[in-house]
Amino acid sequence: MSEKINCLIIGSGPAGYTAAIYAARAGLKPIMYTGLLQGGQLVNTTDVENYPGYPKGILGPEMMEDFKNQALRFGTDIRFGMATKVDFSVSPKKIWIDDNIEVEADAVILATGAEAKWLGIPSEKRLNGSGVSACAVCDGFFYRNTEVAIVGAGDTACEEAIYLSKLCTKVHMIVRRDEMRASKIMQQRVIDTPNIQVYWNSETDEILGETVVDAVRIKNNKTGELTTIPVHGFFVAIGHQPNSGVFKEFITTDDQGYVTTVPGTAKTNVEGVFACGDLQDKVYRQAVTAAGTGCMAALEAERWLSEKGIGH
Ligand code: NDP
Repeated sequence: MSEKINCLIIGSGPAGYTAAIYAARAGLKPIMYTGLLQGGQLVNTTDVENYPGYPKGILGPEMMEDFKNQALRFGTDIRFGMATKVDFSVSPKKIWIDDNIEVEADAVILATGAEAKWLGIPSEKRLNGSGVSACAVCDGFFYRNTEVAIVGAGDTACEEAIYLSKLCTKVHMIVRRDEMRASKIMQQRVIDTPNIQVYWNSETDEILGETVVDAVRIKNNKTGELTTIPVHGFFVAIGHQPNSGVFKEFITTDDQGYVTTVPGTAKTNVEGVFACGDLQDKVYRQAVTAAGTGCMAALEAERWLSEKGIGH
């Protein structure tokens, strides 16, 4: 099966749906392939309180349903499927969905997002959303005036530890080596924050709690000593993995796999291919910033198609 279209959107998080709303309203008749996790990372979260327009907050999955319905309202053709192979060296570009559906598209918007890395211990999975989180900016507020723990030692972990220190009475920062990977300035800020306590050479042994987190047990990897720290929130900040693998042969990425866009735009190194959302953002990673770049990608796709005299 093969079909030729104007505009293909790959991915269904805030970036993909926003791109779809704009592209559909511009008459591009976009087709979206959602990927496996329809709605993206937000369907794995609970309350979202920092997305403008929802003064009372909203559940992540409900918000993504709203995004989807808004994209559908303007005629986006939303389909379930994964891009498994692309050829961006030809025009129109070729994309294979689930290995067997072939799509030819003039403009392609990449919005496949990123995934948080997890420690991989069972209690982390069991208590995910019940005290365990991979996003302090999203969930820190729920643990204000309590003690929390954060694991990681990169810039994200430092930034999130500092963010949490302003909301929480104490932040226990678990660092697996005797030094941090983060930039010197971020490390210094952590050290200078009185209510952040760093545990060096320490690994998470177990997150404790029946239905919600009530403590974390850490193990000193030099002495083997176990320490239990009572906390209500447990934040994992050990990095993210952008979902860029399938595009890498054609699309320029940085050394961590994030798609490189021309600064201030959603343009990639391939004409007519645009990238938005967490796939190209390792700094902000917010639903609202993803939506903003989704809008940029669609506006640029529309402009590019009309400059080339393609499509509508
Ligand atoms: P990084 O890959 O830089 O750091 C990951 C950290 O997690 C490391 O300290 C690593 O430890 C630790 N880690 C990894 N796996 C485990 C594990 N299983 N158990 C315990 N600890 C673990 O990821 P970041 O998300 O921090 O940053 C990604 C990129 O984004 C970096 O280039 C960073 O500079 C950038 N960034 C920039 C910001 C800004 O400019 N404001 C803000 C945030 C990020 P170890 O060091 O031992 O390997």
